[in-house]
Amino acid sequence: MAPKDVFDLEIVIVGAGMGGLATALALAKRGFRHISVYETASNLGFVGAGIQLAPNMARILDRLGVWRDIEREAVDIKTTSIRQGSTDEELGKVNLEYIRSTYGYPHMVGHRSSLAGSMYEGCKKEKAINFVFATSCSDVESYGPRPSLMAYSRKGGEPYRVECDVLIAADGVKSVIRDEMLKLKKVDAKIIDTGQAAYRIMLRREEMQNDPELLELLDGEAVTRWIGEKRHIIAYAVSNKQIYNLSTVQPDANFAAAPSATYTTKGSKPQMMKVFDDFCPKVKRMLDLVPDGEVCEWKLRVHEPLPFWVLDQTVLVGDACHPTLPHLAQGAAQAIEDGAVIATVLAKIPEVTPAAINKALQIYEKVRRDRAYTLVELAAASGRAMHLGEGAAKEERDRQFAALKNGGKGPVPDKWADADVQKIIYGTDIVKIADDEFEKLYAQL
Ligand SMILES: Cc1cc2nc3c(=O)[nH]c(=O)nc-3n(C[C@H](O)[C@H](O)[C@H](O)COP(=O)(O)OP(=O)(O)OC[C@H]3O[C@@H](n4cnc5c(N)ncnc54)[C@H](O)[C@@H]3O)c2cc1C
Repeated sequence: MAPKDVFDLEIVIVGAGMGGLATALALAKRGFRHISVYETASNLGFVGAGIQLAPNMARILDRLGVWRDIEREAVDIKTTSIRQGSTDEELGKVNLEYIRSTYGYPHMVGHRSSLAGSMYEGCKKEKAINFVFATSCSDVESYGPRPSLMAYSRKGGEPYRVECDVLIAADGVKSVIRDEMLKLKKVDAKIIDTGQAAYRIMLRREEMQNDPELLELLDGEAVTRWIGEKRHIIAYAVSNKQIYNLSTVQPDANFAAAPSATYTTKGSKPQMMKVFDDFCPKVKRMLDLVPDGEVCEWKLRVHEPLPFWVLDQTVLVGDACHPTLPHLAQGAAQAIEDGAVIATVLAKIPEVTPAAINKALQIYEKVRRDRAYTLVELAAASGRAMHLGEGAAKEERDRQFAALKNGGKGPVPDKWADADVQKIIYGTDIVKIADDEFEKLYAQL
């Protein structure tokens, strides 16, 4: 039987990634008192990757009280420079300084561990949140009215059943809970290998300090993207400019592994050098600084759109329901939006019944779905534009880039830097929309 007070609902979150952490924190901040987070990994050892911290993410994290810590270490991005990978010639440059005044938050870049770590520290301050590490959850027995599933501790011991009033699957692109839901409903939707893979590289200041050209990049406040046919490298300084982060995308010719829970799946340095062999010397010098054995490469995967995100009192968030290619730098931001919206709608249910919980979760899906899938599409389109080979389409793209030089205005083929796209992404306060529209949407269900 559901409790009398909505804030006494027992909520289980599977996965302590960006979506799971944000959801737990948002629920606790709304006043929920019983939140358990199960995580396969034995700790949150996110290493070796930077992440773009877009204003729509920052706005939510600020409300959750964790943005200031992240911001302290992050780098405020003033421009983005898009360059020809082979020659280092600048194709286009976009000033991003207006973002702070337009959207209330800057576009920053930071370390993945700073983002996850700050959310985790925020969660640890909340008595309501209990973490269960080294424990995988699967084998859902019921999606509601009392969702239940099995927990398997990696430390041994008997598997045990976990029951709750609301089950939130934040278990990433490989979500087993999503797969079980789809199987039950006989929905044939699968993970899609995009045919692309990514290397993630972090260079320390000491490694770059004897190379003035590289130091200039590290000391700058730009996101630089070097592009070539079917490949690109995006790079920026993180951790108070002590680390230069590079993230590549290339054809998955080496059949990279899927990312591990700690994002440290190994790749081969000679293969990485070969992939970018025709890129300019500056880029190759950076790649060559990566010690042998420290190359991380993983597959980039998405998922066919799902017909539903909610089943009874069980709900999917983040990459479990809308994995997004990194080209728009929005995957984590969207997972964080999910968490904040779920907390908002659950806190507003007018009666504490399974039916009301289900309606609230449906409102979450209604508010989030089109936006999330629009960004999935935009990210894929941006990647296609970046990776064009010789031909008319590339000429048109480069003409658009050239028009941006010297403060010129116009569409930006690298979509995250396009003012109209930013308006959609950063200019929408999705939590406010969920808050404002809840009663109307609830009445319609
Ligand atoms: C190369 C690359 C660059 C990116 N750059 C950006 C960027 O700049 N900005 C941005 O916003 N996004 C970016 N993203 C996207 C972002 O990383 C993801 O969208 C985001 O991490 C998704 O969060 P999530 O919580 O849904 O999933 P995840 O972060 O994958 O977390 C899932 C968690 O669930 C755990 N788990 C899985 N199964 C179980 C189980 N059965 N039981 C218990 N625990 C389980 C996993 O161990 C993991 O901790 C990038 C992604 C890639 C690949």
